[in-house]
Amino acid sequence: MQRRSRRNFLKRAALGAASALFFGEGFARERLENQASTAERKPSVKITNVKPFVFEKATFVKIETDAGVSGWGEGDHEFTAINATIVEKIFKPRLIGKNPFDSEYLWKDLFFEGFEGGSTGFVPGALAGVDNALWDLKGRLLNLPAHQLLGGSKVEKVAVYGSYGRRKKDGFKTPDEMAAEAMKFVEQGYKTIKARMQLYDRDRNPPFNFTYDCVKTIRKAIGDGIELFVDFNNGYTASKAIELGLKLYEHFNVKAIEEPVSSMDYHGLRKVVEALPCDVNAGEHEYNKWQFRDLIIIGNPDCLNLDVIKCGGISECKKIASMGEAFEKEVMTHNTRPTLATAATLNLIASINNAAKTQEFSGMRPDLKLSQLFNAQLKFEDGFLYVPQGAGLGLEVNEAEMEKQKLNK
Ligand SMILES: [Mg+2]
Repeated sequence: MQRRSRRNFLKRAALGAASALFFGEGFARERLENQASTAERKPSVKITNVKPFVFEKATFVKIETDAGVSGWGEGDHEFTAINATIVEKIFKPRLIGKNPFDSEYLWKDLFFEGFEGGSTGFVPGALAGVDNALWDLKGRLLNLPAHQLLGGSKVEKVAVYGSYGRRKKDGFKTPDEMAAEAMKFVEQGYKTIKARMQLYDRDRNPPFNFTYDCVKTIRKAIGDGIELFVDFNNGYTASKAIELGLKLYEHFNVKAIEEPVSSMDYHGLRKVVEALPCDVNAGEHEYNKWQFRDLIIIGNPDCLNLDVIKCGGISECKKIASMGEAFEKEVMTHNTRPTLATAATLNLIASINNAAKTQEFSGMRPDLKLSQLFNAQLKFEDGFLYVPQGAGLGLEVNEAEMEKQKLNK
């Protein structure tokens, strides 16, 4: 059914282009000049429904059209019921009847409609679900992968680094447990590992030095041939981050430190960037282009860790990547989910010129219990993820499972 409708849609779009060729340029120009509005030049398709799907740790959005073709996107995984309410109550009424190919204007309209609800956090997190679904939808309507619509079709696979945290159910993993987990990634072919210390602002400058002990034990286990990143997760003030960062670089050859200080302290971040010889990365707590502008100008991190399910979706992230390119910054996406989030990330990464050589990935994560929501899984092999080549984001949703398991029934 969906395939036949897409064929009809493509036939209508092709007829428009063919008529210009058949009748000549003069005809096409005359037709353009006679048009009352630009709407006639666009493929005729309208959004008919917008449905959020809530899970404990995931928000998905389905956008349906009168062409019988739908798109799926993923938004922020925190506070999922609130994200779904924003999609349902604020965004949906402004999307019904609109053309999905107007996604650039729709993004601006939705962002500023929800602006009083917050330009960071919830609103851009919910908007990401809609925007990513629109890229999936546009690709499916045109039967093209989203990365081709974004300007990229040359990247076949992307190197990923194994990312994992220190927290466990009843506290923190020991250094030995952290080292054992690092080895699991190495055994799967990962060439780079990132250990996340998961301190966060509320536990800043802890009195015990577990970060040093963790990194020491991990380096001993993985050997010298594996690149090692350490995420301080906003856990230190600038002076402490510099003191610790220098030791980790000198003693254990740490290649990059992530979010050394609070995401609200760009001046402190700059001090760390200037003091450490290794890379210092940040950006997972920036939610729009205006925040990234300030992060770059004031904090000056080496890599931008933007996140397609938190930071307004592919549209906003593509712009931030371009802005970063002008400042000689690389994009190292923040992403720990083997779902539409990774599919969207890979489509974005394939379309930009300033992608870092390795991107974040945490493996297939059975703990999330989300893999059954998709008919096929992303292809991972020997430390690389393959860029999906199917239409849209390239990951097929199992809608029956989505309906069965969603919490918002
Ligand atoms: Mg991080």
